[in-house]
Amino acid sequence: MFGRRSGEERKPREKVTKEGWKTAKGMLRYLRPYRAMYILGMVFLGLSTATSLLFPYILGQMINSATGSKDWWVPQIDQIALLLGAVVMGQMIFSFLRVYTFSRVSQSTMADIRRDVYRQLLSLPIVFFDRRRVGELTSRITTDVQQLQEILMITIAEFFRQIITLVGGITFIMIQTPRLSLFMLMVFPPLVIVAVVFGRFIRKQSKRTQDDLAEANVVLEESLHNISIVKSFVNELFELGRYRTTLSRVVKNAIKTDTYRGIFISFMVFAIFGSFVLVIWYGGRMVQAKDLEVGDLFTFILFMAFIGGSLGGLPDVYSQILKAVGATERLREILGEKREVDLEKRDGAVSPIAGHVEYKEVRFTYETRPEIEVLKGINLEIKAGEKIALAGSSGAGKSTIAQLLMRFYDLNQGQLLIDGLPSKDYALQHLRDHIGIVPQEVILFGGTIRENIAYGKLDATNEEVREAARKANALEFIESFPEGLETIVGERGVKLSGGQRQRIAIARAILKDPAILILDEATSSLDAESEKLVQEALDILMQNRTTMIIAHRLATIRNVDRIYVLDEGQIVESGKHEELLQLPDGYYARLVSLQMQVSSLDA
Ligand code: ADP
Repeated sequence: MFGRRSGEERKPREKVTKEGWKTAKGMLRYLRPYRAMYILGMVFLGLSTATSLLFPYILGQMINSATGSKDWWVPQIDQIALLLGAVVMGQMIFSFLRVYTFSRVSQSTMADIRRDVYRQLLSLPIVFFDRRRVGELTSRITTDVQQLQEILMITIAEFFRQIITLVGGITFIMIQTPRLSLFMLMVFPPLVIVAVVFGRFIRKQSKRTQDDLAEANVVLEESLHNISIVKSFVNELFELGRYRTTLSRVVKNAIKTDTYRGIFISFMVFAIFGSFVLVIWYGGRMVQAKDLEVGDLFTFILFMAFIGGSLGGLPDVYSQILKAVGATERLREILGEKREVDLEKRDGAVSPIAGHVEYKEVRFTYETRPEIEVLKGINLEIKAGEKIALAGSSGAGKSTIAQLLMRFYDLNQGQLLIDGLPSKDYALQHLRDHIGIVPQEVILFGGTIRENIAYGKLDATNEEVREAARKANALEFIESFPEGLETIVGERGVKLSGGQRQRIAIARAILKDPAILILDEATSSLDAESEKLVQEALDILMQNRTTMIIAHRLATIRNVDRIYVLDEGQIVESGKHEELLQLPDGYYARLVSLQMQVSSLDA
């Protein structure tokens, strides 16, 4: 009742393990088909970075030329301008080609990864989905893959560019102006160290603020999730007080962090500009002493800005790489899960299935709820072509019995035989091909009615689809739509009534033509007219098929061959409707009379 504690769902901060790096490297195999293109992209990246490194040098030479340098290698200012123009053009072209090639590589790679993850998800056992929320899974396919793309497309490129700039830039100025460079290298590294240490401290501080805020959010979410409880206990003021206390802690810590940050930023501003002044002062003195050309000083200053920029950008790039490694780890987790088909015998039986079903002492517990044994020794038998119903109060285990038949889960104990063979000995696909299901709540896929019916047999001809719709009592209403079978349903199309949706599901099952049928009865009753149409359709569908009905409304199962009455995971009674009614003090009889009372209240 007290809902989920959202605090527990908070993601821990990204921590990258050695394992993580390994899996991230494993993801690189997705690049393999496009490696030529990727290398080409890297070449363009190198070229565009190289041209941008040429820029400060040539600009400096232009100034040297303008200030009348006597050096023989310095050409005319106009020639230099032309050269610069060419460099800029080159940079433009290389940049474009880089973005274009990386985009081709990363888009194709992402599509491959998405496809693989989706394929993997589809082939995972239901147990996996019991443990996750759908939102989380879709976010993996979208957000996590997106993050990977960013790293392939932008971050790696950015990383290399910065490294090239750093190494290239420092090498260049070391050669061109060794004395000034050495002076600079004495000034900057201490600064970098201070920045790193202080930066780490501040990150720790702001993490604390984030934690506090998350805690405040827990209070908020909990109380909003359980608003009816808060109100029924008139605890609004109490909750407000809790929220206010945590909030004020957030504020106090945040202000402290921001103060540190302010000190840090102003110190860095002072230090960076100060060192610029220092270096340029030193360079200026060298120019005065005729040890340095003005243009070379200019080149030097530009390079200094480049190098500073690369250094400043590195931590950002690094943290992005860590994030992406985390993302790949989450993807690999999914890709590494055991598939249903892996769990299965490759050489599973594919013998024809007539539909004789037998449960022998079946016991079952859901992995996600180990403390409750849901089925406690179920024995039941359905001969081929027989119809049975499972009755009992909600939570008794009816759907679980049906799910085991579909082999969504493995039994813990006992045997489930189909035509005398343990169900787990069949090839999974073969088994499911022979079981049809008409669910309680029919969910249609967005698309046409025809597509929705043909979901039962993807290669069905138009004629077959029509015939199935006709048998399911659905053709009439379908043809009342102007577009007939091509009518779009779902969110963007017509809304169908419950009875109409059910008849589409029945048509789907008719088209599939399975030996065994599971009918999960709708809990809510339809109006009398639809009820009749649906029942007729079901009667046609059930002909000559082994049928297991999960009964919610007992009125509809009078004619089945046998009713099994379940209570808390055990079969307490079984027999025909009339027989069960005769039982003195019978559970079934009690259920029937209860339902009669309820429906007479409804009426
Ligand atoms: P019925 O169909 O008779 O209403 P179910 O078979 O759906 O009963 O449920 C039997 C018991 O198993 C219930 O206690 C239910 O909460 C539990 N249960 C059903 N499905 C799951 C699941 N996927 N994971 C964990 N427990 C489940």
